[in-house]
Amino acid sequence: MQSYQRQYLKEMGIEVWLDKNSSVAINETVVEEQVSAKSIATEVKVTPPVFPEALINLAKQVAACQQCVLHESRTQTVFGVGNPNADWLVIGEAPGADEDSQGEPFVGRAGKLLNSMLLAMGLPREQVFIANILKCRPPNNRDPQAEEVLACETYLRQQIDLIKPKIILAVGRIAAQNLLKLETPIGKMRGNRYQYPDSELPVIVTYHPAYLLRSPREKRKVWEDLKLAMQTYKAIV
Ligand code: SF4
Repeated sequence: MQSYQRQYLKEMGIEVWLDKNSSVAINETVVEEQVSAKSIATEVKVTPPVFPEALINLAKQVAACQQCVLHESRTQTVFGVGNPNADWLVIGEAPGADEDSQGEPFVGRAGKLLNSMLLAMGLPREQVFIANILKCRPPNNRDPQAEEVLACETYLRQQIDLIKPKIILAVGRIAAQNLLKLETPIGKMRGNRYQYPDSELPVIVTYHPAYLLRSPREKRKVWEDLKLAMQTYKAIV
């Protein structure tokens, strides 16, 4: 296991035990098996993404959107960031205060932890695409309402159609339940392989990093989810 991976796993609260004699990790070896050298290399050398015209046009459409009440209180829309050709699409709930002010999803402490989760899988943030169910911040970080999710759903579908990811990682209850049209508690959704409705696109569910900041003991469960996601991905590429 690479030292940087141990570092990110440690940030996630995952201890990796080493055999003192061999200096080889004897736990979590799945990481070594499933993280390719290619993905590690891209951590060092990342080319800034250039959005294709269709995605730029969609982002402009979102920026002007007034389809639900959230347009009244937003500072700006948060379309999503990352590689427009990404295999991995990370989907969260909605912008919070930091995201609303910076125009980017998953910034601040939760964003930093998400970056660590991704890097533990050998995925630099720039290599994936990150978006939310809602493109505008709900006031006071309240839960999204059904009509808001419905109004915004068309944009997420178009993002998926344009990016054509190979796998979705749904982070948090709101994202998972709305993506999959289920009311199952997130604790019961974890550990399963789902498919995005009307498609064969696999969806793996895990906890939101903001929740992990409040409940750090759950980080080990997240590592199990990420391993399932890596296994699922590996099986389809
Ligand atoms: S949340 Fe979505 S549907 Fe509502 S105003 Fe923002 S972009 Fe439009």
